[in-house]
Amino acid sequence: MDTPPLGAEDDRAGNAAAPVVRNDSDTHALRLILDGSASSRGELRRQLGLSASTVSSVVRRLIDRGLIEEVGSGDSTGGRRPVRLQALRGDTAWLVAELGGEHVRLGLTRVGGDQMTISELAVDVLDGPGPTLETIRAGWESLLAEHPGTAVAAAAIGLPGPVSAVTGELTAPARMPGWHGTRPGHVLSEALGVPVVAENDARAAALGEYVARASEVQTLIYVKAGSGIGGAYIQDGALVHGGSGVAGDITHVPVPDAGDQACACGRIGCLETVASGAAIRRELQAKGIETSSVGAVVDLAVTFEPAATSAVRRSGRHLGDALSPLVNFLNPSAVLIGGSLSGIDAFVAAVRSAIYDSSLAMNTQDLRIEAAIAGPDAALIGLTRLAQQTAALPQERSA
Ligand SMILES: [Zn+2]
Repeated sequence: MDTPPLGAEDDRAGNAAAPVVRNDSDTHALRLILDGSASSRGELRRQLGLSASTVSSVVRRLIDRGLIEEVGSGDSTGGRRPVRLQALRGDTAWLVAELGGEHVRLGLTRVGGDQMTISELAVDVLDGPGPTLETIRAGWESLLAEHPGTAVAAAAIGLPGPVSAVTGELTAPARMPGWHGTRPGHVLSEALGVPVVAENDARAAALGEYVARASEVQTLIYVKAGSGIGGAYIQDGALVHGGSGVAGDITHVPVPDAGDQACACGRIGCLETVASGAAIRRELQAKGIETSSVGAVVDLAVTFEPAATSAVRRSGRHLGDALSPLVNFLNPSAVLIGGSLSGIDAFVAAVRSAIYDSSLAMNTQDLRIEAAIAGPDAALIGLTRLAQQTAALPQERSA
């Protein structure tokens, strides 16, 4: 991979229309090979309406990217036996990164391998996109160095802020000052020379949860309840993006009796100010109980420390109250709670009872409201799925 300095170009909204995958012919060709519609240069030529030399270039690029390989020969059509084109070489891999405020978790998955190689590096998102994305690129290089000969098909990055699924652009990310209007996926794609899709971390985790459950629940609301609050909606097995690509973000849903705590978005009364791990820590602090992290809150709550338990219950009720209209409107099969607070039974129970209290029986009789099962790797699992979909069908994600 080339290693130009990252963030050197101005990656602001001005060039947002530039697609992550720049060659439509490549993506068309790959799709035809993947779905079995074409398995030779001749078939690609006929179906794409391109010249032989253009198709040759397309095939060469796809081979170079490790997305297809040439094998044996195809069915003889009387003349020279065509070399058969087949998708995905055995040494193909997908790279993922989940960015947090102070660390990034990186993963590499190879074709046919169940195990993801995971590593973690310290970063500070307050340093801005340049240094942070350079750390991610270097971290990916290190992972690749552990797997010599690996060809990267595509990568995906999960970000702790609102990412447009359409443009890959971060919009007013409260926890990422200096990143507004940037497209981290685009920057990394330029550096790696492969498609890199960017997605909100909660949405990525939702997809990971869907994958971890082997698609048994097709329509679900997912909430990531950790230090902050995020969410996603999966309908018929697909992440719903919405009109501008940020559907499912319940972070700033107004809560009527939220009090006057200012939200990172600048308003008051947002769900995150009352239902997040940070909100619980504030509440405990006001009672003289200092906690070093949301993990410490979980430790207190699972040992039934009274103040922690009641704060956690209150937060869970707020979350349930915010979810109830969504349950009534969308009628999902499941509401799945991920993030560190999901490890507290009392929190999940409070969400459940708030939803039951204000939903029609018809909506809740088969509704599952439970803790997520994908664990701390949920986002990495979801991002891997996104990277695989991106390599397979970049068309949909690159507009
Ligand atoms: Zn807010």
